[in-house]
Amino acid sequence: MTGGRRPGRGSEGGSLTGDRRVHVRTCPLCEAMCGLEVHFTGDEVKLIRPNRSDVWSKGYICPKGTTLGHLHHDPDRLRAPLVRNSAGELVPASWDEAWARSEELMAAVRDRHGIEAVTAYIGNPAAHNYSISRYVGLFMGLAGLPMIYSAGTIDQWPKNLTCWLMYGHQWRIPAPDIERTDFMVVQGANPHASQGSLLAHADVMGALDRVRGRGEVVVIDPRRTGTAARADQWLPIRPGTDALLQLAVVNVLFAEGLVRLGHLAGRLKGVDEVRRAAADFPPERVAAACGADPEAIRSLARRFAAADRAVWYARIGTCNQEFGTLASWLPDVICALTGNLDRPGGLMWAKPVAWSIALRPRDEPVQIGRWTSRVRGAPEVMGQVPLSCLAEEIDTPGSGQIKALVVICGNPVISAPDSGRLDAALPLLDCMISLDNALNETSRHADVVLPGLSALEQPHYDELLWSWATRSAAKWSPPLFEPPDGRPEEWEILLRLGALCAGIGQDGLDVAGIDNGYFSALAQMGGADPAAALAASPEPGPERINDLAVRTGPWGDRYGENPGGLTLEQIKQAPDGIDMGPMVPRIDEIVAHPDGMVDLAPGYITADLDRLARLIDRPAEPLVLTSRRHLRSNNSWMHNVGVLVSGRERCTLLIHPDDAAAAGVADGDLAVVSSVNGRIEAPVEVSDEMMPGVVSLPHGWGHDKPGTRQSVAREHPGVNNNLLAPPDFVDAPSGNAAVNGIPVEVTPA
Ligand code: SF4
Repeated sequence: MTGGRRPGRGSEGGSLTGDRRVHVRTCPLCEAMCGLEVHFTGDEVKLIRPNRSDVWSKGYICPKGTTLGHLHHDPDRLRAPLVRNSAGELVPASWDEAWARSEELMAAVRDRHGIEAVTAYIGNPAAHNYSISRYVGLFMGLAGLPMIYSAGTIDQWPKNLTCWLMYGHQWRIPAPDIERTDFMVVQGANPHASQGSLLAHADVMGALDRVRGRGEVVVIDPRRTGTAARADQWLPIRPGTDALLQLAVVNVLFAEGLVRLGHLAGRLKGVDEVRRAAADFPPERVAAACGADPEAIRSLARRFAAADRAVWYARIGTCNQEFGTLASWLPDVICALTGNLDRPGGLMWAKPVAWSIALRPRDEPVQIGRWTSRVRGAPEVMGQVPLSCLAEEIDTPGSGQIKALVVICGNPVISAPDSGRLDAALPLLDCMISLDNALNETSRHADVVLPGLSALEQPHYDELLWSWATRSAAKWSPPLFEPPDGRPEEWEILLRLGALCAGIGQDGLDVAGIDNGYFSALAQMGGADPAAALAASPEPGPERINDLAVRTGPWGDRYGENPGGLTLEQIKQAPDGIDMGPMVPRIDEIVAHPDGMVDLAPGYITADLDRLARLIDRPAEPLVLTSRRHLRSNNSWMHNVGVLVSGRERCTLLIHPDDAAAAGVADGDLAVVSSVNGRIEAPVEVSDEMMPGVVSLPHGWGHDKPGTRQSVAREHPGVNNNLLAPPDFVDAPSGNAAVNGIPVEVTPA
């Protein structure tokens, strides 16, 4: 048990027996942002329940949210830095020792090889952690690294790219107005396991049930997921053919006179280019490649167009595939052509109470191909190359070889394609520093591991996630437990790491001065007077940035210019949150192209259509692999929480009965799954929830490496599906990994 309890605020008013108190907070684990009641005595979490008074989530939570106490109390959680000693072991160290060793190693790399030999990997907590979400930009700005890698290129990079090209900004991502639509297509997404993604909404499955009550839900997925099982229609298609189906829908819209631009007339350019492009893709031409009935595609287009309010939501399965950019572009095109963009019940843009730093105005055109990676020659897309390049940049000698790596909360040894090569490459580094609360498959290679705080030791107010929320709401959570003395928060660690990469010594580092400069720049960005903002919030750290984003947001007080406007302090007085209403049309504020038009047919995207057309005549692979997620898992982590990993084995190879018979494997057998990249063994689960020709493995597993400190995860290691993912199997326009649709062979073990 660490630390004492922080003095109570209004959020701890529960009257319970004995010493038990209730702390109200928002779960930081995913985009549902559920309100929780944390029941605790002293320093111990006893129970976590849904907060039924939460204005946003109204009592919804999932099993993961009840385990924040397990994460906090986990004896394996790192509470002090680790430094590798001369015997090669990671041993506990003081913060001064950890910084001194970090500086020594980083300076040696910089002196010998220059900044070109230094890079960073930014993991998923950059979107979820209170400090990191607000300071990862400062880290990158200070560090001045020529190239970074992130979880973006194994996730949503195609959607970022299409939004930049269509609307002029990579983070202006429209979200489905799920509570007001009458017809919803869910493609390559499984909210039953993952909640929303690039869609912030609590209880997406409940919302889908309500859509069914008003109209219809169609799920397009090679697997009859939990979401598909509750839909009106499950339309299975082969992985990687999503864009073919979408183009056929566009074809029907034009061919049958179903295009209705409505309020968007005059706001769209490229409509004729889209019509011409789709003319080559009638349902009858693409159906066989998709593995679908042409009449089913035609009917879907007609029903979508006929609905009063319809929305097409496509997510991870449409991004992490060979045609991710096309499949991320076309849902927005379909919504626009049917008048369902920027309209209640369609695809809309959120209006966050507090703006996100990522959404700062950008006046440059989309950045593609300004440079290429050293080894593979992969072109940069929006400043990054595929994550799968990282291993070869480390293990391939030559000028510019990566010698130092900073990992900001991530586990790419599990999550990167061709992860075996990265696992082998990391020990070649001269300097590796991980910011992580866990000694996991990646951080075990580090020279220095710097732990952050637990979620319950810090405040919470989601940053970027409100940018695709279905309502404008705001929620603040105070820390429940005081961090132990001397423990820096992640924002300070990031600031120091940025300085370290830049060659600025830690001794006498002016943390407050640098932070004041950063805050002043953000104040200017928000249109506030930096001096006035600094005077109002002299304390460094993320809280004043949070306050700035509220005060200069759409309902803010603008530091007194708008008397009665919102401040963070007012939000703190409402532990259950405040609600400012549903999404509203705002295309005029969103579109950042100089001509103010939505570009429906960006040339960079349509240039990829020839490649897609060749897919139609390509012989189908006998068997391809897709990945999946479970409700009780969160990508590569939370596998050290006993209550989440207990029960029956979930890391199984799902296979259709016909494919199982052809491969000679039966339910419960151990099978060998092999691709051009490698082979793994996994237990077989025969199920007709898979369409024939497609098998599925969960992602985020493979906790069998030596040197980790994840005692529960080690008991439930599972297998790493990324060992099978070829590093160069990517969506060419975005560089995003294609982990869905990998040709594989299954044989008995
Ligand atoms: S759905 Fe679960 S993990 Fe996500 S915010 Fe809610 S409780 Fe947390």
